[in-house]
Amino acid sequence: MADVPTDIQALSGERVLAVTWPDRNADFPFVFLRGQCTCAQCVNEWTGEKILDPATIPADLSVNNMELVGSYALRIHWSDGHNSGLYTWQRLRELSSGVDRAAE
Ligand SMILES: [Zn+2]
Repeated sequence: MADVPTDIQALSGERVLAVTWPDRNADFPFVFLRGQCTCAQCVNEWTGEKILDPATIPADLSVNNMELVGSYALRIHWSDGHNSGLYTWQRLRELSSGVDRAAE
């Protein structure tokens, strides 16, 4: 599966999640990634409307913990207590087109 990252690191100093694929790297700012959460608390499951107000995301947000979910996604335990969102490899891959640091 081409979407599976080869490395994921939460860099607390830079406040970015550094994701590496064989052909691409991406640094996702924590606040950006938190704002992209698609769980039922952040996005209305029926309408797709965003419930999460980006203004409520703390600027000093950090990652307390991360865990793999099966072989397809990452669960991030944010320092604001939120951990219900899953970031699938496919979704990270899609988001990465906006924050490429080494585009092909
Ligand atoms: Zn969420």
